[in-house]
Amino acid sequence: MSNQIAAMLAQASRVSVFSHVLPDGDALGSSLGLMHLLGAQGKQVRVFSAGPIPEEYLFLPGMDRVSDVLPGAGEQDLAVMLDCHQPERTGPVGGAFLAKLPQVAIIDHHQGEVDFGQAAWVDPSFAATSEMVTLLAQAEGWPLTPQAATCLFVGVQTDTGSFRYANTTPRVLRVAADLAEAGADVWAISQEVYATRPKRLRLLGRIMDNLELSDQGRLALSQITLADLEKVGAGPADLEQAVETLRLIPGVEVSALLRQNPKGAIKVSMRSRGKVDVSQVAIALGGGGHKSAAGVTLEGNLEGVRRDIATRLRQGLEALA
Ligand code: AMP
Ligand code: MN
Ligand code: MN
Repeated sequence: MSNQIAAMLAQASRVSVFSHVLPDGDALGSSLGLMHLLGAQGKQVRVFSAGPIPEEYLFLPGMDRVSDVLPGAGEQDLAVMLDCHQPERTGPVGGAFLAKLPQVAIIDHHQGEVDFGQAAWVDPSFAATSEMVTLLAQAEGWPLTPQAATCLFVGVQTDTGSFRYANTTPRVLRVAADLAEAGADVWAISQEVYATRPKRLRLLGRIMDNLELSDQGRLALSQITLADLEKVGAGPADLEQAVETLRLIPGVEVSALLRQNPKGAIKVSMRSRGKVDVSQVAIALGGGGHKSAAGVTLEGNLEGVRRDIATRLRQGLEALA
């Protein structure tokens, strides 16, 4: 499938790049990495993100080229959707726009059926979309510039939890080494991505205050309300790394963090230590993700959603017994 996408990219001179809302390091890293790779070949590239952009990624080379304004309908020969494969994941405006385009290519590593796009390279065996983009560049002989390498490194670094999660394969470690060789400065990048941000640690404090452990300590649930966010002066983009801390509580098998978003819906982030497939819970509710990290946004009140999610995760735990 990567061949087909490479051929489509070779033919296009104007390319628009899309990724998912609430972008993470991989969504932004793969988008900007691809922008640099194609830009070096003289192509005109636009990068769309509905945002909000977490502040640790503002340093990425080319971030000033990321826009939340849609390109014009006739302004691209090809659109590429990265780190997601459902058009609505790009946000309310992006989804409708993509659905009308004649040429959409998808590169993604999330679970689930793909029923969109003219070509899709979707393979959950990859740790990050940025890993796939790097391998595509290498297969096609595109030169890896230091800027591209920096963006792609951030994608593989963040999606593997700095090479700690179960998706950390020899392949992705080799990709990371290649990116470091091509000019990604690991220490300079890490100081940006993992900078200590006091408001985030305060938020983590709120998450621990709200923590509820059940099922012999195997299920961890917590929540963050808009009032919590306001209290510490944080926004939705400040929660990305906090979600990971819950599943690493000793004994916890599955965890979920619920957060109220500004429009009143509840964003649910689920994490598993590896035995329970949380992507199945997310997909059943209309969301998606990976076996060990998945999410969904639901309408409803916090209490009701919390009960429903707890029940579904408990069923996952019971199925293990
Ligand atoms: P998060 O909990 O937001 O960090 O997301 C965990 C994983 O699930 C990431 O790979 C997301 O891209 C994916 N994900 C989160 N929310 C959704 C959703 N509503 N639909 C599809 N995938 C999602
Ligand atoms: Mn992502
Ligand atoms: Mn990803």
